[in-house]
Amino acid sequence: MAQFAVIGLGTFGAAASMQLISFGHSVMGVDINPILVNKLADTLTYAAITDASDEQALQELNIQSCDAVLVAIGSDLEASILCVLHLKNMGIKEIWAKATSKSHHAILFRLGVTRIIHPEEEMGIKVAHSLNYPMIKEFMHIGGNFYIIEIEIVGKISGISLNELLGEEKDLLKVLLLRRQKELLYTIESDFVLATNDSLILAGSLKTLQNIAPRL
Ligand code: ADP
Repeated sequence: MAQFAVIGLGTFGAAASMQLISFGHSVMGVDINPILVNKLADTLTYAAITDASDEQALQELNIQSCDAVLVAIGSDLEASILCVLHLKNMGIKEIWAKATSKSHHAILFRLGVTRIIHPEEEMGIKVAHSLNYPMIKEFMHIGGNFYIIEIEIVGKISGISLNELLGEEKDLLKVLLLRRQKELLYTIESDFVLATNDSLILAGSLKTLQNIAPRL
């Protein structure tokens, strides 16, 4: 179990906090708005009504003991920057922060934030990928030009063999696993016949994965 602090309990911060709680972590939620804090007070491990742009107030929260802090203040640029600055001054190493504009991103980058998140942009890209390839349920960028993707077996590809689906690309990508209902298969022969609702997880370069997309 890890200890997190989420500063800013708007839509994004509240969703992140609840998910961390459901993973079994301890979450301290902080917001300047008492209504938002009170709404989540029963669910969070600890909830505080605090102005996070005030260094003194932040220091009183014992945030130093957290493994990571997520700054989820978006629209109030000044509050977001001051909060990150104070957290840095307090020696907190792992700071993730939400950015709402290019200049916000540039400042957070300069302040040395570990990860800058652009929720709307990142979600927009994910949605576009899904619209482009509806059979691809999930994808994960693993650096460089490489991706891991999850293909849902439906329609014309159910009943064909793995070999037929992968075609010439079969030697250029890695079949990681196949989920069939509650079972995970780690070794899948090339003549394995895919069935409706199977989930196939592949890893490879974008180009190779794109080449199999027209067969989906
Ligand atoms: P979202 O789109 O996730 O709702 P917002 O930027 O609108 O994002 O909300 C961010 C949250 O940050 C709001 O709940 C707001 O009350 C909170 N917030 C803004 N300024 C401060 C501050 N100085 N200290 C603590 N919380 C703040």
